[in-house]
Order: sequence, then structure tokens, then C-alpha cells
Amino acid sequence: MARKLYIAGNWKMNTILAEGQALASALASQVGAAGDVDVAVAPPFVYLQAISDTLAGSAIGVGSQNMYFEDNGAFTGETSSAMLKDVGCTFAILGHSERRHVLGETDEMINRKVVKALADGLDVILAVGELLEEREADKTMDVVSRQIKVGLTGVLAADMARVTVAYEPVWAIGTGVTATPDQAQDVHAQIRALLAEMYDGDVAGATRIQYGGSVKPDNAAELLALPDVDGALVGGAALKVEAFMGIITAGQGLTV
Ligand code: PEP
Repeated sequence: MARKLYIAGNWKMNTILAEGQALASALASQVGAAGDVDVAVAPPFVYLQAISDTLAGSAIGVGSQNMYFEDNGAFTGETSSAMLKDVGCTFAILGHSERRHVLGETDEMINRKVVKALADGLDVILAVGELLEEREADKTMDVVSRQIKVGLTGVLAADMARVTVAYEPVWAIGTGVTATPDQAQDVHAQIRALLAEMYDGDVAGATRIQYGGSVKPDNAAELLALPDVDGALVGGAALKVEAFMGIITAGQGLTV
């Protein structure tokens, strides 16, 4: 089944307003009209409105890097789905490894966020991935399967059209070390098989699975050409127009 490539830039805690606006407007003009590849960015929360304004009318989607699972109330520092939609977000990245390993989010918390985001009309990028010691202990698929099974608990097949899974080996994030094409394809194929088990072949065949972990213009074409890699979640390289455009261009040159 053909899946449209999806390239998303996670800006993390980077950029101040003027930098974010400059980055967004350069991307908007260079990406042009919607094409063969879906493109999106996840700026810092405080700039979501401004970046949504900058990207209004462009082909680039805007999403958040996190979201809380309650509607409102005494949750200091948190941000609701309604707030995100109000500032132009169409999706949320949930379960990013920095949320899991730096900020202490559990699979159960991430699941509550996934269910809430989907219920409230946001699409979801569910990020999963193993630590180096887990890979070395041959536990990659144990960890990734658990993160996906718990993360998607209660998510119906009909809602899976709005879920992208991002496989991001933690040892490859921000380290300059990229998974080899064989390593990436192997895990992606196993994630797709897991989705077929959890749902069915149609859902598994239609769900986009992004790769993330030191994707750059010079390794993007090889990764994006892999049969079960349907896009990229990009950190560092998403902060530079040329680098992010290089990844998008690599994707545009491929037929999925
Ligand atoms: C990420 O944060 O999702 C990521 C993949 O970062 P980087 O591209 O910098 O490795």
C-alpha cells in the first residue's frame, strides 16, 4: 500500500521568536505547494501561535512537542488539546524519548495523552525507541512493542489513520550516530507486523512509520527509500533551512 512520506521537524527547546519565524517563512517559500511529501514542524509551545501565523496558507503543518491529558484546571505548566488547536496545531508529538527519559513520562501517561489527543481531534506522532543498553541486551523489540502496545491501548482501528509511529532509537538521537539501513528496516518491519497483530493488515499497511535519529540530508535518501520507512522525525537538522530542505528534497525524489 502506498504511504505518503511524512517529514516532521521537532525544534525541541530551540529558537527564539525571530529565529523561528525566519526558519518557518523560509521553509514555507521553499516547500511551496503541497506535494509528494507531507511536511510539518513542532516549534516550542510559546511560539506556536506565531509560527502558525507565519505558516498560514502554506503546505506545512504545525504541531506541538507534548500535550496534557486533562481539559483544564490545576495542572501548572501543562497545555491542553483545546489550547493547542486554538493556536493552530493539528498534531502532537507524544512519547518523545526526551519526555520519557529526561522528564520521566511513563507509557501509561503517554497512552492517556494519545487517547485524549485523538479524541479531541489532534493527530498524533507516537515516538518510541530503545536505549543503547536495551539494544545491546537484545531487548529492542521488547521495549518498542511495550511502548506501542501500551501507547495505543484503547486506540481504535478507525483512529489509526491519524496516528504516525516514529521509531527513534535513543542512541541515535542527537548523537550523530544513525541506525544503519538494515537496523532501521528491521525494526520498522517488526513494528508493522505488530500493528497487523494489534489491528489488521489494512491498518498496518496504511500506518506511517517515521524513522528518527540523526537524519541529515546525506543519509535521508537511503533511509527514506527503505520499504517500511515512511518519513522522518528530525531534530537537529530541522533547525537549518538548508538541512531540513535537503531531507524533504530527498523524500520528494522517491516514490513510496
Ligand atoms: C528527535 O529529536 O526526534 C531527533 C531525531 O533528533 P536528531 O535528529 O537531532 O537526532
